[in-house]
Amino acid sequence: MNNWINDRVSLISKILTKGLWNSNATILMYHRVADLKYDPWLVGVSPENFEEQVQVMREYPVISMQQFVNNLKEGKLSRSVVITFDDGYKDNFYNAVPVLAKAGLPATFFIASGYTGRQKQFWANDLDSIFLTPGPLPERLEINTKQIQFSYDLGEENFISKDPIKQFQNWIAWESSPTKRQSLYVEVARLIKSLPPEQEEELLEILYQWSGKKKMIDPANLMMNENELKGLATDGLFEIGGHTVSHPELSAFPSNIQLEEIRENVHFLETVINRPIQGMAYPYGAYNKETIQAVKMAGLQYACTTQQKPTYKNESLYTLPRLRVRNWNGAAFKKRIELRLKLGV
Ligand SMILES: [Zn+2]
Repeated sequence: MNNWINDRVSLISKILTKGLWNSNATILMYHRVADLKYDPWLVGVSPENFEEQVQVMREYPVISMQQFVNNLKEGKLSRSVVITFDDGYKDNFYNAVPVLAKAGLPATFFIASGYTGRQKQFWANDLDSIFLTPGPLPERLEINTKQIQFSYDLGEENFISKDPIKQFQNWIAWESSPTKRQSLYVEVARLIKSLPPEQEEELLEILYQWSGKKKMIDPANLMMNENELKGLATDGLFEIGGHTVSHPELSAFPSNIQLEEIRENVHFLETVINRPIQGMAYPYGAYNKETIQAVKMAGLQYACTTQQKPTYKNESLYTLPRLRVRNWNGAAFKKRIELRLKLGV
């Protein structure tokens, strides 16, 4: 009960100190528009819910990222909504873009170019197959390579029967883990984020071998190819932005690697779409002082984080907060947007 009161008091004080006196513009963050069997990172919005959300958005001033950045630079931030997508999934192109185009709503797509047109899925999809699908796993995981030392005891929780699968399907990675199998998933995810790409691939291979499961790539999990990116960029409504090459947790890497990841990504995208890249989104929202320096050195005007708050007038262009859009239906989405735009929370 005390927590409930504390939460309410902190909400009201936020509204009074910040929300009511600001224009409460907000940048929406999407990842995938698809029906996902497992979604521990809450990256999916179903195509049906996305359609409903777009209908709701038509009631609000939706502006392009470029307009938003200009408004912020000129100190004229107005009550507005910006739509962004991270990573570059194919489902953005086939499930989201037609709906946005029909509604005439602008959006920005931040692309991790190391995945462009490749038969390579994001590691989270591999971890879903390894840890969250039924069947037993060995009781102990022990990894000892030159760079990676890792061990974990699953013990008797190495097995999931058919029944608890539902529980697994609704599990969210940053909430408490119902069994050791999810705890191990989280530990491995933490490790992967900080690895360079070659070691990431090596680790995934080790994990597949250990699990006895066969690596299968679901085409639905792939990212856009060059032609799809070109197609996207030729529509004046849509902007392409950067999201690094290999999608590393930038702040875990030295500054020269950070700069290389950002520059190579920008260069690749500019060559493909034949127009300048203006900004980027940090993978996992992770950045430090060196990251911001690298963004400036790469000639970008803005960068988005995954921090969950509205944008205030004095916001830095290099740490723009966003709102993670969940798989809400139209009514739930509207409620969330209203809170954000009217009350600033
Ligand atoms: Zn990402």
